[in-house]
Amino acid sequence: MPARRLSARWMLPMDGHVVEEGAVLIGADGRIVAVGPDASVPRPPDVPVERFDNALLLPGLINTHTHLELTGLVGSRPDADFAVWIRRVRTDKAARAADAFLEAAHRGIADCWATGVTTIADTGDSGAVIQALAEAGGSGIAYHEVFGPHPDQCEASLSGLRADVERLGRFTGSRVRLGVSPHAPYTVSGVLYVATAALARDADLPIAVHLAESRAETALLADGSGAFADAWRARSIPMPEPLGGTPVAWLESHGVLSDRTLCIHVVQADRTDILRLARAGAAVAHCPLSNGAHGHGDAPLAALLTAGLRVGLGTDSILSVGYLDLLAEARAARELADLDAGQALALCTSEAARALGLEGAIGALRPGHWGDCLVVRDVGVGRDTAEERVLASGPRDVLATFVGGRDVYRSRPLP
Ligand SMILES: [Zn+2]
Repeated sequence: MPARRLSARWMLPMDGHVVEEGAVLIGADGRIVAVGPDASVPRPPDVPVERFDNALLLPGLINTHTHLELTGLVGSRPDADFAVWIRRVRTDKAARAADAFLEAAHRGIADCWATGVTTIADTGDSGAVIQALAEAGGSGIAYHEVFGPHPDQCEASLSGLRADVERLGRFTGSRVRLGVSPHAPYTVSGVLYVATAALARDADLPIAVHLAESRAETALLADGSGAFADAWRARSIPMPEPLGGTPVAWLESHGVLSDRTLCIHVVQADRTDILRLARAGAAVAHCPLSNGAHGHGDAPLAALLTAGLRVGLGTDSILSVGYLDLLAEARAARELADLDAGQALALCTSEAARALGLEGAIGALRPGHWGDCLVVRDVGVGRDTAEERVLASGPRDVLATFVGGRDVYRSRPLP
């Protein structure tokens, strides 16, 4: 890969400073060599330079939760009844041909790049996304899902997961990681949670769990009531043990919460739950637009941040939100927790990197970090700070996206 030097009228390295006339030099290994004021960043004679005049240069965005294998599926828009919607998604997925998942994953990654997202934390069970990330030269963590609500399914589910982890390991590399995802408390038994957490510890894999999302999930674990409990009874699945706690407490009691755990959604969480998550060192993928679309309510974002939890933003799938727009999530998060523009932008850059445990490699423009960059048109006028202007931009304002110094997206000139 050739080295590359990028400069722009404004640069936001996401280290607390904004640089007017900033530049970044990316080496042939894809990592940042130098970053700072244009005049101070070297100009090696053989390195191509590119200048963006009316634009802002910042680290590529990080989406901490999505399901790219669902790219292209239509007809399963959020339903008033979350349990019914989940079932419909499972049915639609089952109808999709195996090779269609890989094509969908490639399209999903290209769509992410077109909106400035350079690292993707994805959950799915087809294995297509990790393969597509490896084939496309992308960056991300693919959390491989495991299901099995009946305790008797545990052995079969676990041996399937072990085989998948073995099979998918060949797609991992310096930019592509594999994780595991025991899907959610309404699709995974307690024994399977315990076993998957042990597997993750032994194999040193990160974990992602959908947690404390819907009221039906809370009711299942509180007293065995609600739509999920009804569905379990209809299938002769025994109620979770023990009943009477919250989803967060239930996962804690099964040894799932640790600093390797990414908890997705965390809407139905009280103060004690937040302390539990903080004590465990777990991170949160906050998906405000998905939570709203499904009517789950608002996550306690301000309290999560005050408790010192690592929080990143996620879009969830196109079936929940229609279109993956991480900056729209940042605007929603800002409103929800009364954040300033810089804090909101950090939730999809530097703080998102921390949530994924990747803060030493991505999320900020810093020497040694990967040369993942986003260039957006300066929508300027009337908005005073650079952070405000990035936050006010939309997917159509993305001019170019770079992953490890390689340009993976260029906007077409407007007609
Ligand atoms: Zn999800």
